[in-house]
Amino acid sequence: MPTLAYLLLGSNLGDRAARLAQARHDLAATAGRLVAASALYETAAWGLTDQPAFLNQVLAIETDLAAPTLLAACLAAEQQQGRERQVRWAARTLDVDILLFGQEILATPTLTVPHPALPARRFALVPLAELAPQLRHPQLHQTISELLSACTDPLPVQRITA
Ligand code: ATP
Ligand code: CA
Ligand code: CA
Repeated sequence: MPTLAYLLLGSNLGDRAARLAQARHDLAATAGRLVAASALYETAAWGLTDQPAFLNQVLAIETDLAAPTLLAACLAAEQQQGRERQVRWAARTLDVDILLFGQEILATPTLTVPHPALPARRFALVPLAELAPQLRHPQLHQTISELLSACTDPLPVQRITA
């Protein structure tokens, strides 16, 4: 049985929209079938705020991969675009996070699913709510739209494509 996974793409260096497009293309080849993609959203940087704004997009991918293998595909897509990891939350060409992997709950040193920061990040909840407002968070038992209503993240998230 394939798993429906939700991935968050983010970029704040270079041609951000082109980077997200390339990531969609790469992930469709390596991770599984791309079943839905949210609009693109722009948000000021979170965490380390002295850097360019991010473009974010959520993808729904139907995958036959196990979660750690899907993570490897996400990291490979980042590498494809020259991602360098220096400082946590620093500017990056491409970031691909696994928000949800079906209803699975995982906590290993290299992979935590659902993504622990999801409820605290409007830039992740807004595009996810566009695709799956009624989806229930497997640990918090609230829907994505309920999590969004309760989210106190002050950073505005602006939809920039139709
Ligand atoms: P944040 O996780 O707060 O969004 P980040 O995306 O900037 O921070 P990275 O440097 O991209 O952090 O990732 C560091 C490591 O996080 C990855 O190498 C991966 O092993 C681990 N990780 C744990 N859980 C996840 C997840 N759900 N999705 C993606 N990476 C994860
Ligand atoms: Ca991230
Ligand atoms: Ca990441």
